[in-house]
Amino acid sequence: MTSAAMPGSTSGSTSGRPIRELPERVAAQIAAGEVIERPAAVLKELLENALDAGAERIAVEIEAAGRERICVHDDGRGIPAEQVTLAFRRHATSKLARVDDLGRLSSYGFRGEALPAIAAAAGRLRLTTRSGSERTASLIEFERGLSSGVRPAARAVGTSVEVHDLFAGQPARRAFLAGARAERAAILRVASDAVLASPARSLRLSSDGRRPLEHQAASELGGEAALREGLSSVFSPQAAERAVWFEARSDRAELGLDGLAGAPDDARRTRDRIRLFVNGRPVHDRRLSFAVQEAYRDWLDSGEFPLVVARLTVPPEAVDVNIHPAKTEVKLRDPAAAFSLVGRTLREALSGERSGSPRRLRTGAVRAPVRSADLQTERPAAAGDATGGTGLAPEAAAMPRMAVPVGEHIRRSVAEAAPLPSFAADGSGAALPPLRMVGQLHRTFIIAEGPSGLVLVDQHGAHERVVYERLLGLGRESGSGVSAGSAAIQPLLEPLLLALDAEESANWSAAADRLGRLGFDAELFGERTLRLRALPGAVAAADAETVIRGVLTDLTPERVELERFDRAAASAACHGSVRRGQVLDTAAMTALLRDLERCENPHSCPHGRPTLIEISADDVLREFRRK
Ligand code: ADP
Ligand code: MG
Repeated sequence: MTSAAMPGSTSGSTSGRPIRELPERVAAQIAAGEVIERPAAVLKELLENALDAGAERIAVEIEAAGRERICVHDDGRGIPAEQVTLAFRRHATSKLARVDDLGRLSSYGFRGEALPAIAAAAGRLRLTTRSGSERTASLIEFERGLSSGVRPAARAVGTSVEVHDLFAGQPARRAFLAGARAERAAILRVASDAVLASPARSLRLSSDGRRPLEHQAASELGGEAALREGLSSVFSPQAAERAVWFEARSDRAELGLDGLAGAPDDARRTRDRIRLFVNGRPVHDRRLSFAVQEAYRDWLDSGEFPLVVARLTVPPEAVDVNIHPAKTEVKLRDPAAAFSLVGRTLREALSGERSGSPRRLRTGAVRAPVRSADLQTERPAAAGDATGGTGLAPEAAAMPRMAVPVGEHIRRSVAEAAPLPSFAADGSGAALPPLRMVGQLHRTFIIAEGPSGLVLVDQHGAHERVVYERLLGLGRESGSGVSAGSAAIQPLLEPLLLALDAEESANWSAAADRLGRLGFDAELFGERTLRLRALPGAVAAADAETVIRGVLTDLTPERVELERFDRAAASAACHGSVRRGQVLDTAAMTALLRDLERCENPHSCPHGRPTLIEISADDVLREFRRK
C-alpha cells in the first residue's frame, strides 16, 4: 500500500507547512456542518490531527465518557509558537492552500475547522505544543471560547490537547448526549478505527480508570504484520492469528485493496466488525459492506457478520472526502469497481484458505448434530436441572396429556377449518396439543403431526423459547426445581477464560449485573479476560462461549440502558439454541417438541416470531381434491 497518499503519513506533503487562513473562496467549498456533536467526534478530530502531524505514539485520556475531559497527547511535529493562535482561527489550516488541493488530499484534516469548533464548545481547552525546531513549548488556553493568549511552557516535541467540560455552555446539546456507556462505546470505536487505519502507530486509550485499548506498534513491521497487530489489539490475538490476509489491485480502475478477513468463528451478530477504510479514512458504505457480507455468504448463518478490515486506496482525485462534515462517508468515482474488487478478492481469499467444506474450520458456532444423550454427558453436574441445559430433554419424557386451549397460530387455522375435538378448552394458558415428530425439513423445521393436521415447528425459535423460559424460571415445571430460572446454576468444574475484544469488554461492564441475575457468574480479570465460573442451568456448557459472546455483542450499552431485563435472557436463549441449518436426530426433535409443550407461551419465540404454523388436514385433503 502506498503511504504517500495516505492521510497522516509522515512522508505526506503536509509536513511542516505553515498554517494559513484559507481564502474565502476555498473555505466556501468545504462541506460545512457541525463536526463536534458529541465527545467521540471531538476525539476523532484530535486523533486525526495527531496522525496528520506524523505522531508515532498517541495517548488518549477520557473522563466521564468525555464530558469532563478528553485529552490527546502526541509526539508529532508540533505547532511553532507563532502559529498557535492561528490554528484556532476558523478555516486556518496547514493542510490545504488551494481549491485544487481538495482533489489530492494526503491528510485527514483540510477544513481548519476542528480546533476553533472544539474551543468554542468546551468549557475550557488547553493546547500545549512544541515543534521540532523550538526549545520551549507554547501553551494556549480558552475559557468558553475566549483565549488567554500564548505563553511559554515545558513539553517534549509534540502536542497535547485537553478538552474540559464539553458543551458546558450548551445545556441543550448536553442533554441530547447519549448515555455514558454509549458514548464510551463510540469513543472506543473511534480509537479502534485509528488503530486499524494506522496500525504502525502506537495508541493507548484510558477511559474512566480503565484501559480498554492498548496498541503497541512494532514499528519495523510492514503492512500485513502491522495490521495483524492492530487486529490483535482491537479484537483478540486469536482473531488476528486466524484472519486471512488479502491483497489485490485493479489497474483499470486504479484501485488497491488489502486487509484481513476474519475466520467465521470471529463473526458476530452486528456489523461492528466490518471495518472499511478508503485512503486511510474509516468509512460507512452500505454497498462495500454488502460486498463483504456477500463474500461470506456460504460461511455464516444469516444474521451473522464477519470480522473484516478492508483498506481501499484510490488516487486522491478519484474520491471525494468532502461530502460529509464528519468525513465518515466518501464518494468513489467508480463505486462498482470497488464493490466487485472487494467481493472478488474476499471470496478468493476465503476459498483459497479453506478449501473443501467452508464450515469445516468453524469450531465454536456450528455444532455437531444435537443428541440429547451426548449433551447430557458433555455437561458438568448441574445444580437443580436434570433435563439437560439445552432444552432437549431425554427422550424418556412421556407424552404429556394436553387438554388446554390453543394459541393464536393454530387457532387461526382451526377457525378456518372444522372445530377439532382434540383441542379441548379448559380456560387455562395457551398450550400445545401433543405433537408427533415426523421429520426435519430444510434442516430448519421440524415436521410434526398434530390432532388437526401438519405442524411445522421452527427449530431455532422453538428452542429459543424453551431456553428463554428456563432462564427466566417460567414454564410449567418451574415449581418442581427442574427449571428454576436463575436459581438453576451450573458451576463449571474449571473456570472458562475468554479473551474479550475491547467492545465485548465494555459491553460486559454494562451488562454484568443483568447477566449475573440470569445465572452467569463471571468477572473481568484484567481488562480483557473474562473468567466464567458458572452458567445458568438452561445453557449447555458446550455453548458457554457462543452464548457469552453472543450476549456481549447483542447487549450494547445503549440496549442495556434502554431495554428491559428479559432482553438479556432473550439474547442468551438465542445464542444458546440450536440453529437453523443444523441436522437434528429423531431423539433431539422429539425432546424439543416435548420441551416446547411445557412452555408457558409455546407459540412464539422471545422475539415474538411464531415458533410453529399449522396446515390443517382439511386443507391438505382439499388440495388433493379429496374433499
Ligand atoms: P485541519 O486539521 O483541518 O487543518 P484543525 O482545526 O484541526 O484543522 O487544525 C488546524 C491546524 O492546527 C492544522 O492544520 C495543523 O497545522 C495544526 N494542528 C492541529 N493539531 C495539531 C497537532 N496535534 N500537531 C500538530 N499540528 C496540529
Ligand atoms: Mg484537523
